Amino acid sequence: MGRWLVGLPAAMLPAGLALPALSAVGDPQHAGPLYFVTCLAVAVAFAAVGIRLSRGSRAAAVMGVAIVALASLLLEQASYPGAAAVVAAALGWGIGALVEWPPERRWRAISGLIGGSETLVLLRFGLGVWQAGLALIAIALWCCWRSLGSGGQSHAPGRAPRAAYLGVAGLLALFSAFWVGSTSPSVEWFGQLTYHGPRDRNEVALTFDDGPNGAATAEIGRFLADRGVHATFFLVGKAVVRDPGTATALLSDGHIVANHSYNHGAFSYLDPSYPELMQTQRAIAERVGVCPALFRPPHGTHTWFMSRIVSGHGMRLVTWDVSAKDWVEDDAVRLAKNILAKVKPGSIILLHDGIDGIPPVDRSVVVKALPAILDGLKARGLKPVALDVLLGTPPYLPLSECLPAVADGAAR
Ligand SMILES: [Zn+2]
Repeated sequence: MGRWLVGLPAAMLPAGLALPALSAVGDPQHAGPLYFVTCLAVAVAFAAVGIRLSRGSRAAAVMGVAIVALASLLLEQASYPGAAAVVAAALGWGIGALVEWPPERRWRAISGLIGGSETLVLLRFGLGVWQAGLALIAIALWCCWRSLGSGGQSHAPGRAPRAAYLGVAGLLALFSAFWVGSTSPSVEWFGQLTYHGPRDRNEVALTFDDGPNGAATAEIGRFLADRGVHATFFLVGKAVVRDPGTATALLSDGHIVANHSYNHGAFSYLDPSYPELMQTQRAIAERVGVCPALFRPPHGTHTWFMSRIVSGHGMRLVTWDVSAKDWVEDDAVRLAKNILAKVKPGSIILLHDGIDGIPPVDRSVVVKALPAILDGLKARGLKPVALDVLLGTPPYLPLSECLPAVADGAAR
């Protein structure tokens, strides 16, 4: 029992050092104290299981090192609360395995554990006083626990529970790698993508997703055109079919239209053949008369397969580096402020003129925020341009790339 009382906090303190990273990733609006506590609880629970099952196993300890390293890498990339919570579980599990490093190696384990956590915190935040304090307390607790003795060695668990533990921990780590990799719009190691333009020029791109959305899209398109600003609209195929007029009007106002899937489903990105890409290309080509060269996956979720299919069609996968979660924001002033706080040269700014391609939805928050966003960009010397200008890439492909059957028919 004493082993648990001291061992668990000692195991969790390094995780506690790393966990503020979890509350800082993504958006501050959605990563409050409750979220932090939830992540901590998840990590504690998994560490507890790890401590119980990995007792004295060298393989478990090695696995723990690997999982902690992987979780630390993922922490830097996790941009969704759900993904970060899974990473927290993996981190806790890995630390749980690490804690039971064989006694004769314990100092190596302790220094590795503390050093790793501290490096992570330093990379993410710079070292604060309270973090240094926690690290010292962790070391002190550990030393007390070891010097007092663990109060009678209880027998180690058998092979089967250990094997199950290692298997589940490995799967969890792999799963969190996949999840974080595919759901983070700035992760390039999970398929080639572009999430910002050149940082050495004072240009940024305003992008609008999920339309066309009737009056809201029309109003945004007109307002920008009146201010002499060109933006990029990532259109949802089914919405284009329903409302081709609004999509065509965007072109007349000088904006760029691009591909944002056909149905905007949450899980269609998992289909390795990703048929929605070409389904949308056809819809846009037939209704609007252009063949987009730019594609943005719904929610920024992507896989290697999707990335290959997109580049195989001569297209470019583009995500973003600035989002203020305008789809859940209801305060236009705060929306503009949050966007401007994150923007820098080369930024690709994510906004929504629709929601999931399901019109009609009210987007007055974006309409109201736009004047302040444009003024703020101007004050920072940043010029909003369409994505083709920012990235120096053609916005459209020949129409025959979208409508091969038509091209074949014409050639015959
Ligand atoms: Zn979308």
